Amino acid sequence: MITVEEAKHIILENTQDFGIEEIPFLQAVGRVLKEDIVADRDFPPFNRIAMDGIAINYRFFEQGFRDFNIEGIQAAGSPQKTLDNAANCYEVMTGAVLPNNCDTVIRYEDVDINTLVATITIDEIKEGQNIHTQGSDKSKGTVLIKKNTIVSAAEIGVLATVGKATVKVVKQPKVMIVSTGDELVDVNENPLDHQIRRSNVYTLVSLLNDLKIPAETAHITDEKSVLREKIESYLKKYDILLFSGAVSKGKFDFLPEVLSELGVQKLFHRVSQRPGKPFWFGTTDNCNVFAFPGNPVSTFVNCMVYFYPWYLKSAGLPSEEKTAILAENITFKPNLTCFLQVKLESKFGHLVAYPMKRNGSGDLASLVEADGFIELPKTEETDFKKGSVFPILTYRSF
Ligand code: AMP
Ligand code: MG
Repeated sequence: MITVEEAKHIILENTQDFGIEEIPFLQAVGRVLKEDIVADRDFPPFNRIAMDGIAINYRFFEQGFRDFNIEGIQAAGSPQKTLDNAANCYEVMTGAVLPNNCDTVIRYEDVDINTLVATITIDEIKEGQNIHTQGSDKSKGTVLIKKNTIVSAAEIGVLATVGKATVKVVKQPKVMIVSTGDELVDVNENPLDHQIRRSNVYTLVSLLNDLKIPAETAHITDEKSVLREKIESYLKKYDILLFSGAVSKGKFDFLPEVLSELGVQKLFHRVSQRPGKPFWFGTTDNCNVFAFPGNPVSTFVNCMVYFYPWYLKSAGLPSEEKTAILAENITFKPNLTCFLQVKLESKFGHLVAYPMKRNGSGDLASLVEADGFIELPKTEETDFKKGSVFPILTYRSF
């Protein structure tokens, strides 16, 4: 049995390169960008009118002029016009190009318009006001979005503006999530007295969905020959296999044996932690196999502890490491790392973790009441003091 630290280390030493694909930009939300996005023009690309009103040459206002003959209208979407007589003005619309010979815009609210003449009704204006100057946000050639950014709505607007109809992102790996166990029936079935509905695959699908990884699912009964046959074909077809169940010490826990028979190299089996101890991890040349124990809380926590950082590193992203303050004294006697379910509160910029009563790793309903797991390290010490800070894994946003 290895420690959680050793297990994490081995997992991070065995990441995959998923490659890069080019996709329509609007489909890139949540995906990891694999190219720098550069301004193809200045931002804004011309001196942009920022208020509906009139554009003048400030010199004349300074000299005391208040009445300006209107030469014409500069609408948004029209090529730049020129003020012929610098003592006149142009009516200008937000989003239009500032006409030549103009340098200042006065909004309609501060102007009286009488057919051909605009009269400025205020005494103070600033030279250059109400103009969004060319290149004042970003100049052409600036990197606007860095490679390895996760694309959000904010990036989508920029991608559209620079004309990136398609973008390079991390390719999505092909993932198969497999549940095992003769006692499990599907969601829309009525379980017999000795059966339960399977839930782990759907939890895993959703945990992966949070990372924008699509996954297929399958169920295999506890029969060695069926396991062998199906897994053999999955190993050829998928980049990642996630299993739940059949890795403990039970008579029908055939998975470790079958995986090694199929040539999957075992990198470890069992980690000194609770819950999630019987976790098995291995690789082939083109596939990584995460076999989590079937108890729902074990599957859940192991996906967050191991699969998440493995995927983030594979995709070129840093793992975020959050901490929380333990709100109560906790005694945990086993010489194991404890992933304790907690309710979280955000106080003065810190997360505070309130330990929850739980009923073992089979208690999946407790996941609904909790917000995450605080990681109490495996030490000689069995008492963890209120006020101490520990790593936290949360499945809700704070
Ligand atoms: P195992 O790891 O196969 O020994 O399973 C441990 C416990 O988890 C058993 O009580 C199983 O019934 C339960 N279990 C295994 N897989 C699932 C699943 N997909 N959904 C819900 N419970 C499961
Ligand atoms: Mg089982």
